Amino acid sequence: MGEATEKGSLGEQKWRFQGNDVLTTASALTTASALTVRGVLNLIVDNLTKDDPRAVVPLGHGDPSPFPSFRTTAVAEEAVVESLRSANFNCYSSPVGILPARSAIAKHLSKDLPYTLSPDDVFLTVGCTQAIEVVLSVLARPDANVLLPRPGFPFYEARASFINLEVRHFDLLPDRGWDVDLEGVEKLADDNTLAMIIINPGNPCGNVFSYGHLKEVALVAKKLGIMVIADEVYGHLAFGGKPFVPMGVFGSIVPVLTLGAMSKRWIVPGWRLGWLVTTDPNGILKKSGVVESIKGFLNISPDPATFIQGAVPHILEKTKDDFFSRIIGTLKQTADLCYEMIKEIPCISCSSRPEGSMFVMVKLNLSMLEGIKDDIDFCMKLSKEESVIVLPGTAVGMKNWLRVTFAIEPLSLEEGVKRIKSFCERHAMKQ
Ligand SMILES: *Cc1c(COP(=O)(O)O)cnc(C)c1O
Repeated sequence: MGEATEKGSLGEQKWRFQGNDVLTTASALTTASALTVRGVLNLIVDNLTKDDPRAVVPLGHGDPSPFPSFRTTAVAEEAVVESLRSANFNCYSSPVGILPARSAIAKHLSKDLPYTLSPDDVFLTVGCTQAIEVVLSVLARPDANVLLPRPGFPFYEARASFINLEVRHFDLLPDRGWDVDLEGVEKLADDNTLAMIIINPGNPCGNVFSYGHLKEVALVAKKLGIMVIADEVYGHLAFGGKPFVPMGVFGSIVPVLTLGAMSKRWIVPGWRLGWLVTTDPNGILKKSGVVESIKGFLNISPDPATFIQGAVPHILEKTKDDFFSRIIGTLKQTADLCYEMIKEIPCISCSSRPEGSMFVMVKLNLSMLEGIKDDIDFCMKLSKEESVIVLPGTAVGMKNWLRVTFAIEPLSLEEGVKRIKSFCERHAMKQ
């Protein structure tokens, strides 16, 4: 801040504007209030040694689409080609999304709910990212606050700070399989709290909330008079003992805004097709004006490309179960491989086996490591010495932990974790 004003005063002309305070780079690491996964990963990538003959092993990303095992289904590709060729979708979209796509999503999500969604409950967004932008923006007003999970997905913090919406953090508990600290939620909330956010299946923890736990979340939210925002962008990517249960199942206890996308389940994040859905059979979000506000926001926002919207009904109706089960099978295989291999490395540990999404949180035992200051130092040295990219936990709100992505070819994952093991052995505290 301030630079524009100084520069302005050098010439005769004065300029009154300057950029808003957005932290994206190195300075963000120290303030930790508004950093992004992208910004932190760029720092780690910049630290790679250029002349290592070994291939870089990326275990920090959230987009496995470049890997052959994670190629999307031909059904989805053909649906987009067909939609494009039809020339029916060269037009602008309606601000809430085109009706056939909203109907298809309503039908698709209703399969897992005890009530039926209407197309009017569905709003299409530019990926789940824009759905987050919409929900936070419609809630933002002076003094309002929302409750976010820690560790979590830092885009929420970054977006909230940009619109001056206060955030407060409740903990996810590693000793309880990353369940929400519900007592903590009750303590954090006050009269200005409007919503709590949950991410299920979890990024960054790879956890899946049980039916019983989600019901408890609903009851606590109801008691506090707040809505639940359920980020289900990893919906159905569950491969452990617990099935994925959408939060909307409890929509009659508490109003739920469900966020989702094609990005992760179909592995096409570049197609930018997401949704925001009111899973609220009692119509509380409508009565309270939230729905009008969402429409108002979407009226002045860009829409997902119409030809991608045009492909949605075909994709949702025709994608075969064998595609989903192949992806789930691969994720289960790589999650288990990752968990078992990490168990054998003395100075790091996983508190629980991942059951969903694409990530696992790994705890650093710094007292067993020599010359490693913290998680960022660990990741910077790991990328320099072993050409392995891992996300420091600081980037997701958990200092001295790591977030490891297992959504990658099994052989590369094995190679990457082996290198992490040699790194830890080389830096082990001497007795
Ligand atoms: C990837 C991700 C998003 C963003 O999804 P896009 O559809 O790619 O915009 C939102 N929330 C979480 C938790 C994510 O991991």
